[in-house]
Amino acid sequence: MTYDLPDVLPEFMQTYFDWFTDTFGSSPAEDVRIAPYAHASNGGIRIDANASCGIAGLFACGEATGGMHGADRLGGLSSANGLVFGHIAGRSAATWAAAHPLGPSSPDVTFDATFSPLASDVMRDLRHAMSESCLVIRTQEGLGLARATISAFGERLARSSRPCEDWREVAATIQVHQSLVSANALVTAMLARTESRGAHYRADFSDEDATQARPLVIACKNGEVSALPAE
Ligand SMILES: Cc1cc2nc3c(=O)[nH]c(=O)nc-3n(C[C@H](O)[C@H](O)[C@H](O)COP(=O)(O)OP(=O)(O)OC[C@H]3O[C@@H](n4cnc5c(N)ncnc54)[C@H](O)[C@@H]3O)c2cc1C
Repeated sequence: MTYDLPDVLPEFMQTYFDWFTDTFGSSPAEDVRIAPYAHASNGGIRIDANASCGIAGLFACGEATGGMHGADRLGGLSSANGLVFGHIAGRSAATWAAAHPLGPSSPDVTFDATFSPLASDVMRDLRHAMSESCLVIRTQEGLGLARATISAFGERLARSSRPCEDWREVAATIQVHQSLVSANALVTAMLARTESRGAHYRADFSDEDATQARPLVIACKNGEVSALPAE
Protein backbone atom coordinates (compact mmCIF):
# COMPACT_ATOMS: atom_id res chain seq x y z
CA MET A 1 0.00 0.00 0.00
CA THR A 2 1.35 3.46 -0.83
CA TYR A 3 0.09 6.90 0.12
CA ASP A 4 0.55 10.45 -1.13
CA LEU A 5 1.45 12.02 2.19
CA PRO A 6 1.38 15.75 2.92
CA ASP A 7 4.60 17.32 4.29
CA VAL A 8 2.87 17.99 7.60
CA LEU A 9 0.67 15.14 8.77
CA PRO A 10 -2.59 15.72 10.66
CA GLU A 11 -2.04 15.26 14.42
CA PHE A 12 -3.85 11.91 14.62
CA MET A 13 -1.74 10.45 11.79
CA GLN A 14 1.50 11.85 13.22
CA THR A 15 0.76 10.29 16.62
CA TYR A 16 0.02 6.97 14.95
CA PHE A 17 3.16 7.14 12.75
CA ASP A 18 5.33 7.94 15.81
CA TRP A 19 3.85 4.97 17.71
CA PHE A 20 4.33 2.68 14.70
CA THR A 21 7.96 3.73 14.20
CA ASP A 22 8.77 3.34 17.92
CA THR A 23 7.10 -0.08 18.05
CA PHE A 24 8.17 -1.69 14.78
CA GLY A 25 11.36 0.22 13.93
CA SER A 26 10.07 1.25 10.48
CA SER A 27 7.78 3.96 9.17
CA PRO A 28 4.28 3.21 7.87
CA ALA A 29 5.24 5.46 4.92
CA GLU A 30 7.51 2.60 3.81
CA ASP A 31 6.18 -0.71 2.49
CA VAL A 32 3.98 -2.33 5.10
CA ARG A 33 2.35 -5.73 4.93
CA ILE A 34 -1.24 -5.60 6.13
CA ALA A 35 -3.55 -8.51 6.94
CA PRO A 36 -7.17 -8.87 8.07
CA TYR A 37 -7.64 -9.33 11.81
CA ALA A 38 -10.68 -9.90 14.03
CA HIS A 39 -11.39 -6.43 15.44
CA ALA A 40 -14.86 -6.30 16.98
CA SER A 41 -17.94 -8.47 17.06
CA ASN A 42 -21.16 -7.40 15.31
CA GLY A 43 -23.20 -9.83 17.36
CA GLY A 44 -23.08 -11.60 20.65
CA ILE A 45 -24.99 -12.94 23.63
CA ARG A 46 -28.60 -11.71 23.59
CA ILE A 47 -29.42 -9.63 26.67
CA ASP A 48 -32.52 -7.83 27.92
CA ALA A 49 -32.77 -4.27 29.25
CA ASN A 50 -31.25 -5.44 32.57
CA ALA A 51 -28.29 -7.13 30.79
CA SER A 52 -29.67 -10.54 31.79
CA CYS A 53 -28.97 -13.26 29.25
CA GLY A 54 -31.97 -15.32 30.38
CA ILE A 55 -30.14 -17.59 32.84
CA ALA A 56 -30.91 -16.59 36.44
CA GLY A 57 -27.97 -14.65 37.90
CA LEU A 58 -25.96 -14.52 34.66
CA PHE A 59 -25.46 -11.09 33.10
CA ALA A 60 -23.45 -10.06 30.05
CA CYS A 61 -22.11 -6.82 28.58
CA GLY A 62 -19.41 -5.35 26.35
CA GLU A 63 -17.78 -7.17 23.48
CA ALA A 64 -19.42 -10.47 24.47
CA THR A 65 -22.84 -8.94 23.69
CA GLY A 66 -21.56 -6.79 20.83
CA GLY A 67 -24.80 -6.45 18.85
CA MET A 68 -25.97 -2.91 19.59
CA HIS A 69 -24.32 -1.47 16.46
CA GLY A 70 -26.11 -3.76 14.01
CA ALA A 71 -24.30 -4.92 10.89
CA ASP A 72 -21.32 -2.60 11.23
CA ARG A 73 -19.60 -0.84 14.08
CA LEU A 74 -19.00 2.90 14.24
CA GLY A 75 -15.50 3.71 15.50
CA GLY A 76 -15.52 4.10 19.28
CA LEU A 77 -18.90 2.52 19.78
CA SER A 78 -17.44 -0.48 21.62
CA SER A 79 -16.24 1.83 24.39
CA ALA A 80 -19.73 3.33 24.71
CA ASN A 81 -21.21 -0.18 24.64
CA GLY A 82 -18.84 -1.35 27.38
CA LEU A 83 -19.53 1.64 29.62
CA VAL A 84 -23.32 1.76 29.22
CA PHE A 85 -24.05 -1.96 29.42
CA GLY A 86 -21.21 -2.64 31.89
CA HIS A 87 -22.91 -0.19 34.27
CA ILE A 88 -26.32 -1.84 33.79
CA ALA A 89 -24.91 -5.38 34.11
CA GLY A 90 -22.93 -4.47 37.24
CA ARG A 91 -25.99 -2.99 38.95
CA SER A 92 -28.17 -5.95 37.96
CA ALA A 93 -25.57 -8.47 39.15
CA ALA A 94 -25.16 -6.67 42.49
CA THR A 95 -28.94 -6.56 43.00
CA TRP A 96 -29.25 -10.25 42.15
CA ALA A 97 -26.35 -11.25 44.41
CA ALA A 98 -27.77 -9.29 47.35
CA ALA A 99 -31.06 -11.18 46.98
CA HIS A 100 -29.37 -14.60 46.60
CA PRO A 101 -26.66 -15.00 49.22
CA LEU A 102 -24.66 -18.22 48.95
CA GLY A 103 -25.55 -20.51 51.84
CA PRO A 104 -24.19 -23.80 53.14
CA SER A 105 -27.08 -25.57 51.37
CA SER A 106 -26.16 -24.25 47.91
CA PRO A 107 -26.15 -27.22 45.53
CA ASP A 108 -22.87 -28.52 44.13
CA VAL A 109 -22.32 -28.03 40.41
CA THR A 110 -21.49 -31.34 38.75
CA PHE A 111 -20.13 -32.01 35.27
CA ASP A 112 -18.01 -34.58 33.46
CA ALA A 113 -14.40 -33.57 34.08
CA THR A 114 -12.59 -34.71 30.94
CA PHE A 115 -9.43 -33.71 29.17
CA SER A 116 -8.28 -34.19 25.58
CA PRO A 117 -4.57 -34.21 24.71
CA LEU A 118 -5.66 -32.93 21.27
CA ALA A 119 -7.36 -29.79 22.67
CA SER A 120 -4.63 -27.34 21.65
CA ASP A 121 -4.28 -28.95 18.18
CA VAL A 122 -8.04 -28.68 17.65
CA MET A 123 -8.00 -25.02 18.74
CA ARG A 124 -5.17 -24.23 16.30
CA ASP A 125 -6.93 -26.03 13.44
CA LEU A 126 -10.25 -24.37 14.29
CA ARG A 127 -8.64 -20.92 14.11
CA HIS A 128 -7.17 -21.80 10.73
CA ALA A 129 -10.50 -23.14 9.39
CA MET A 130 -12.39 -20.03 10.57
CA SER A 131 -9.78 -17.70 9.06
CA GLU A 132 -9.95 -19.55 5.74
CA SER A 133 -13.73 -19.66 5.30
CA CYS A 134 -15.36 -17.17 7.67
CA LEU A 135 -13.24 -14.04 7.76
CA VAL A 136 -13.46 -11.50 4.92
CA ILE A 137 -15.03 -13.35 1.97
CA ARG A 138 -17.75 -15.93 2.67
CA THR A 139 -19.52 -18.35 0.33
CA GLN A 140 -22.02 -21.20 0.70
CA GLU A 141 -19.28 -23.64 -0.28
CA GLY A 142 -16.66 -22.31 2.14
CA LEU A 143 -19.13 -22.01 5.01
CA GLY A 144 -20.43 -25.54 4.37
CA LEU A 145 -16.86 -26.80 4.51
CA ALA A 146 -16.27 -24.88 7.77
CA ARG A 147 -19.42 -26.42 9.28
CA ALA A 148 -18.31 -29.96 8.34
CA THR A 149 -14.81 -29.25 9.69
CA ILE A 150 -16.18 -27.96 13.01
CA SER A 151 -18.30 -31.10 13.34
CA ALA A 152 -15.25 -33.30 12.62
CA PHE A 153 -13.21 -31.37 15.22
CA GLY A 154 -15.96 -32.00 17.80
CA GLU A 155 -15.79 -35.73 17.12
CA ARG A 156 -11.98 -35.65 17.29
CA LEU A 157 -12.17 -33.93 20.67
CA ALA A 158 -14.85 -36.32 22.01
CA ARG A 159 -12.98 -39.45 20.83
CA SER A 160 -9.74 -38.36 22.49
CA SER A 161 -11.28 -37.16 25.79
CA ARG A 162 -10.76 -39.08 29.02
CA PRO A 163 -11.55 -38.46 32.71
CA CYS A 164 -9.12 -36.07 34.37
CA GLU A 165 -8.72 -34.42 37.80
CA ASP A 166 -6.39 -31.60 36.80
CA TRP A 167 -8.75 -28.60 36.62
CA ARG A 168 -6.41 -26.65 34.33
CA GLU A 169 -6.47 -29.41 31.72
CA VAL A 170 -10.24 -29.78 32.12
CA ALA A 171 -10.78 -26.01 31.75
CA ALA A 172 -8.57 -25.88 28.63
CA THR A 173 -10.62 -28.69 27.04
CA ILE A 174 -13.93 -27.04 27.97
CA GLN A 175 -12.69 -23.83 26.34
CA VAL A 176 -12.11 -25.67 23.07
CA HIS A 177 -15.56 -27.29 23.29
CA GLN A 178 -17.11 -23.84 23.80
CA SER A 179 -15.09 -22.39 20.93
CA LEU A 180 -16.53 -25.09 18.66
CA VAL A 181 -20.05 -24.12 19.79
CA SER A 182 -19.34 -20.42 19.12
CA ALA A 183 -17.80 -21.21 15.73
CA ASN A 184 -20.83 -23.30 14.81
CA ALA A 185 -23.17 -20.45 15.84
CA LEU A 186 -21.17 -17.99 13.71
CA VAL A 187 -21.20 -20.25 10.65
CA THR A 188 -24.96 -20.81 11.10
CA ALA A 189 -25.54 -17.03 11.11
CA MET A 190 -23.28 -16.50 8.09
CA LEU A 191 -25.02 -19.24 6.12
CA ALA A 192 -28.50 -17.94 7.03
CA ARG A 193 -27.69 -14.38 5.95
CA THR A 194 -27.85 -14.81 2.17
CA GLU A 195 -26.93 -11.19 1.44
CA SER A 196 -24.03 -8.78 2.05
CA ARG A 197 -24.56 -6.21 4.80
CA GLY A 198 -22.08 -4.13 6.80
CA ALA A 199 -18.98 -6.20 7.48
CA HIS A 200 -20.69 -9.44 6.39
CA TYR A 201 -19.69 -10.10 2.76
CA ARG A 202 -21.05 -13.10 0.85
CA ALA A 203 -19.32 -13.41 -2.53
CA ASP A 204 -22.33 -15.45 -3.74
CA PHE A 205 -24.87 -12.82 -2.53
CA SER A 206 -22.99 -9.56 -2.97
CA ASP A 207 -25.99 -7.18 -2.64
CA GLU A 208 -28.00 -6.08 0.36
CA ASP A 209 -31.46 -7.67 0.58
CA ALA A 210 -34.02 -5.34 2.20
CA THR A 211 -36.09 -8.32 3.41
CA GLN A 212 -33.16 -9.41 5.63
CA ALA A 213 -32.73 -6.05 7.38
CA ARG A 214 -33.16 -7.48 10.89
CA PRO A 215 -30.99 -9.30 13.42
CA LEU A 216 -30.85 -13.07 13.57
CA VAL A 217 -31.22 -15.02 16.81
CA ILE A 218 -28.97 -18.06 16.96
CA ALA A 219 -30.20 -20.69 19.41
CA CYS A 220 -28.50 -23.90 20.50
CA LYS A 221 -30.78 -26.63 21.87
CA ASN A 222 -29.69 -30.22 22.49
CA GLY A 223 -26.61 -29.65 20.35
CA GLU A 224 -28.67 -28.37 17.38
CA VAL A 225 -27.97 -24.79 16.29
CA SER A 226 -30.69 -22.78 14.52
CA ALA A 227 -31.00 -19.23 13.11
CA LEU A 228 -34.29 -17.32 13.25
CA PRO A 229 -35.10 -13.66 12.54
CA ALA A 230 -35.43 -11.66 15.77
CA GLU A 231 -39.03 -10.79 16.71
C1 LIG B 1 -7.19 -3.90 17.50
C2 LIG B 1 -8.45 -3.38 18.17
C3 LIG B 1 -8.71 -2.03 18.15
C4 LIG B 1 -9.86 -1.54 18.75
N1 LIG B 1 -10.12 -0.18 18.72
C5 LIG B 1 -11.21 0.30 19.31
C6 LIG B 1 -11.49 1.72 19.31
O1 LIG B 1 -10.72 2.52 18.76
N2 LIG B 1 -12.60 2.16 19.94
C7 LIG B 1 -13.47 1.30 20.56
O2 LIG B 1 -14.46 1.75 21.14
N3 LIG B 1 -13.24 -0.03 20.57
C8 LIG B 1 -12.14 -0.55 19.98
N4 LIG B 1 -11.92 -1.91 19.98
C9 LIG B 1 -12.89 -2.78 20.62
C10 LIG B 1 -12.72 -2.69 22.14
O3 LIG B 1 -11.34 -2.79 22.44
C11 LIG B 1 -13.48 -3.86 22.78
O4 LIG B 1 -14.85 -3.81 22.38
C12 LIG B 1 -13.43 -3.77 24.30
O5 LIG B 1 -12.09 -3.85 24.74
C13 LIG B 1 -14.23 -4.91 24.89
O6 LIG B 1 -14.15 -4.84 26.29
P1 LIG B 1 -14.74 -6.00 27.17
O7 LIG B 1 -14.38 -5.64 28.58
O8 LIG B 1 -16.18 -6.23 26.83
O9 LIG B 1 -13.97 -7.31 26.68
P2 LIG B 1 -12.43 -7.64 26.75
O10 LIG B 1 -11.60 -6.37 26.71
O11 LIG B 1 -12.20 -8.67 25.70
O12 LIG B 1 -12.26 -8.24 28.21
C14 LIG B 1 -12.62 -9.57 28.50
C15 LIG B 1 -11.67 -10.02 29.58
O13 LIG B 1 -12.09 -11.29 30.06
C16 LIG B 1 -10.96 -12.08 30.23
N5 LIG B 1 -11.40 -13.49 30.15
C17 LIG B 1 -11.73 -14.22 29.08
N6 LIG B 1 -12.09 -15.44 29.42
C18 LIG B 1 -12.01 -15.51 30.77
C19 LIG B 1 -12.26 -16.52 31.73
N7 LIG B 1 -12.69 -17.72 31.36
N8 LIG B 1 -12.07 -16.23 33.02
C20 LIG B 1 -11.64 -15.00 33.41
N9 LIG B 1 -11.39 -13.99 32.54
C21 LIG B 1 -11.57 -14.26 31.24
C22 LIG B 1 -10.02 -11.71 29.10
O14 LIG B 1 -8.70 -12.05 29.40
C23 LIG B 1 -10.23 -10.19 29.09
O15 LIG B 1 -9.37 -9.51 29.95
C24 LIG B 1 -10.76 -2.41 19.39
C25 LIG B 1 -10.47 -3.79 19.43
C26 LIG B 1 -9.33 -4.27 18.81
C27 LIG B 1 -9.04 -5.75 18.87
